[in-house]
Amino acid sequence: MLIVQKYGGTSVGSIERIKAVAERVTKARKQGNNVVVVVSAMSGETDKLIGLANQISPNPDERELDLMLSSGERISAALTAIAINELGFRSMSFTGRQVGIITDEAHTKAKIERITGERVREAIDEGMIPIIAGFQGITETSDVTTLGRGGSDLTAVAIAAAIKADLCEIYTDVDGVYTTDPDIVHEARKLDKISYDEMLELASLGAKVLQTRSVEFAKKYEVPVVVRSSFNDNPGTLIVKEDEEMEKVVVSGVAYDKNQVKITVIAVHDRPGIAAKLFNAIASANIVVDMIVQNVSSDGKATDISFTVPKTDSRKALKITREIAKELGAEKVIMRDDIARVSIVGVGMRTHSGVAAKMFETLATHGINIIMISTSEIKVSCVIDAKYTELAVRVLHDAFGLAQARNL
Ligand code: ADP
Ligand code: ASP
Ligand code: MG
Repeated sequence: MLIVQKYGGTSVGSIERIKAVAERVTKARKQGNNVVVVVSAMSGETDKLIGLANQISPNPDERELDLMLSSGERISAALTAIAINELGFRSMSFTGRQVGIITDEAHTKAKIERITGERVREAIDEGMIPIIAGFQGITETSDVTTLGRGGSDLTAVAIAAAIKADLCEIYTDVDGVYTTDPDIVHEARKLDKISYDEMLELASLGAKVLQTRSVEFAKKYEVPVVVRSSFNDNPGTLIVKEDEEMEKVVVSGVAYDKNQVKITVIAVHDRPGIAAKLFNAIASANIVVDMIVQNVSSDGKATDISFTVPKTDSRKALKITREIAKELGAEKVIMRDDIARVSIVGVGMRTHSGVAAKMFETLATHGINIIMISTSEIKVSCVIDAKYTELAVRVLHDAFGLAQARNL
């Protein structure tokens, strides 16, 4: 088999851990597989680097940030190659550029446009174990980019698709994908398998076990992905195409995200084109808007528009919104950053009714006020006060019986 193995920050968090990774990689190799490895920076490294830049500027230039951030993964890649060589195998580390990961120019959240991947194939053909520094690419004009937080997952899935690997294994610090974050709910249950669509929703709604774009990529190219622990040999969670069995489960998981802010434009004219103007400006700055709520104005003249954006983009979004609001003659713009979004996800929602109502009722019973709501075919999300996040996740996990094997 041709296997891509990705090791996250904790899995390469110390020299001891890197040696353990080398053992695991060479074990797979000894079993007759060709292995390509993708590594994250050692845990805490990326945050540390961002912290250094922030000591100089609250808004560091993103091109410079990317060049700096890419170094974290280079270090762990080289150390992993050294550890594998030390075990008597031949290994070589590569940067994103060296394996031809070409991205667009959206620094700090670049999109992969193509992968040449020749050096990976050559290295495999020569009997080497290639170690690729995750999270990074290069623009057509040779500037280093990074792929967004958690982006090494994307490197792994994209490389797996490019070299047509039989399997992409994501090694992390938990045994697989759980019904919710096992750090918050101890009764959370590990799923044996989950559909691409459900995983996509869970990831985009905050379950950081996999980066959202990596799941999109896996779905598009049908890359078989398994999430498992680098600390034991438990089987993990398979991410696969949906099957009939999955439809029977109404809710498969609960996710939460504390990294959103809510921006409200107060008393803006209620006429065609206002929302288009505002959200076009925000989209042009590469900011992804999640929920949008527009209140119907009581006097027919003015309206309030509220929306949520990721915390990391809040300054930029606020600045743009203030500019547009001024142009449009709105009264003022306010921002709330003490909010969180809790969500329930499940393909079974397509065929079962009353799921949203049960969610609202559960939150209400526990005195949790809902600030915003959004739904799609397979998810319901509520924005709530951030201080109730853990409580909300726990009571929803319980209400939908997720700790039990099946919640029909
Ligand atoms: P890595 O450094 O290996 O990429 P991450 O920290 O990015 O690891 O992701 C793993 C973490 O994701 C887990 O430690 C867990 O706390 C968190 N997590 C959140 N939601 C889930 C979930 N539904 N299933 C498993 N882990 C989850
Ligand atoms: N090191 C990067 C991060 O912390 C990428 C990754 O770990 O996947 O976000
Ligand atoms: Mg991660």
